[in-house]
Amino acid sequence: MDFQVSARKWRPQKFSELIGQEHIVRTLSNAIELERVSHAFLFSGTRGVGKTTTARIIARVLNCEKGPTIDPCGKCTFCIEITEGNCIDVQEIDGASNNGVQEVRDLIDNVQYATSSARYKVYIIDEVHMLSKSAFNALLKTLEEPPPRVIFIFATTELIKIPETILSRCQCFEFKPLSQSQITKQLELICDQEKIEIEKRGLEDISKIGAGSMRDAQSLLDQVIAYSGRKVDAESVEAVLGIVGGNTLETFVNRLIDREPAALVTLIQEIVKQGKDLGLFCRSLMEYLRNLLIVKISDQPETLLNTHTCSLETLKEQAEKFHADELQVMFTVLSKAEMEMKRSSLSQMVFEMALLRLIETRPFKKIDELIEQINQSQSNSAEQIPVPSQQPIGTEETPPPSVAKAVSQKAPFSWDQIKQQVSRTKPFFEHYLEKCQVPVFSEKEIHLAFSDSFTFDLVETPENIQFLKETVKTVCGHDVDLKLILDTGMQEPTAQAAVAEKKKSIDPEIGIQKSESEIIQDALDIFGGIVVK
Ligand SMILES: [Zn+2]
Repeated sequence: MDFQVSARKWRPQKFSELIGQEHIVRTLSNAIELERVSHAFLFSGTRGVGKTTTARIIARVLNCEKGPTIDPCGKCTFCIEITEGNCIDVQEIDGASNNGVQEVRDLIDNVQYATSSARYKVYIIDEVHMLSKSAFNALLKTLEEPPPRVIFIFATTELIKIPETILSRCQCFEFKPLSQSQITKQLELICDQEKIEIEKRGLEDISKIGAGSMRDAQSLLDQVIAYSGRKVDAESVEAVLGIVGGNTLETFVNRLIDREPAALVTLIQEIVKQGKDLGLFCRSLMEYLRNLLIVKISDQPETLLNTHTCSLETLKEQAEKFHADELQVMFTVLSKAEMEMKRSSLSQMVFEMALLRLIETRPFKKIDELIEQINQSQSNSAEQIPVPSQQPIGTEETPPPSVAKAVSQKAPFSWDQIKQQVSRTKPFFEHYLEKCQVPVFSEKEIHLAFSDSFTFDLVETPENIQFLKETVKTVCGHDVDLKLILDTGMQEPTAQAAVAEKKKSIDPEIGIQKSESEIIQDALDIFGGIVVK
């Protein structure tokens, strides 16, 4: 028996079989029924979503002996020839290998002749964005005054590369990536027809990796079937596709909770040794963190979770250990790492470094608690501030440069006041500010200097800058120019110094946090005198 790959065998032959592109099917069906078919179409969208399939269906719809009909018979000579790619009036051209002006001229010469037997001549040009500029120009005239009964259908994965002059002469359709459930449903149907027994979990994994492309998902299914035969369990799918299983993910997050960097790196090495795909693992981890966040913010997370890898109880238990802001920052770290890994030849190291950054975001909770305690003690001045005993606090450390600078500048508000305001609205954000210095601090402008590009990138988004500006305005009552600077040669204030800074400005007698100006006023009260500088 001849083996035929699933993507070809299960290629839709009519509009009603197309999956996930209802908006396109509806418009095209109406146009055909009303006999108002455009002479040029442009189909855009990612790979494997049905662009050339739809183009072939149009060719069949227009040329079927029973047609034009939206329901071609599939049995007549034209239907069969088009399906097999043998119809002389339906030409499929690969734009990538026929991209020169001469190829297009040959094609245009051919366009002028009448069809040999079919009703319409259909030219399908795939990857049309690969055509050269002069090739596009050569096409223009034909598109402007097309001969009767000639239809052009262009397909591209890169719409942005198509000249405006071409776009304006085509009816354009954007194909959507397929959803995971649409792909899973189709794979289920195929397996059912082919008498393949496969666990649902395995099918879902395949759809997930297919990432919106039906063709990719179908080739993965072929691969899995070639490995396992007619009975496929979820473990074989994981093995063939290099997926890291749910148990490993769970263990991984536990190591993260316990802040064990060495254990995390060891786990990564084991995953690589087993031949698993780290890029996929990074994506699974992002999905896991997303699920943890959903569990944290929703009363009924069941409907919002997209997981079969982990029990809800485990997720709930683990989510307790994280701060919501922290999960978001971790997600951002991984999302950046995922993109970097694709570009880097050292993807494992990129991932390892990202993991160490994840660990770095963990002290969030402690800082939040500390801020909360300080805020509480401010509102209740009679109470002594409890300071967590595990934090190494030395009163003799010098304050970080940010404070020294801020004191020496004259402004009727302090950097500390701004940071306190920040911590009230976005507790996690103060963590970033601990990592920066303030070389300029005056009533008119504030400069924030960061020593690591990673924190700088996280802070320097339009929303964050807006947030900072508004916070500064809340504190000082008017707009202040805010400038962010990246200075990689600069030394970063250490966490201990930051804690020491908090401690230093707390009056040990009464336990109230004081601003710099209040401290100076205290000194004046005790010793007398005036400020000369
Ligand atoms: Zn037919």
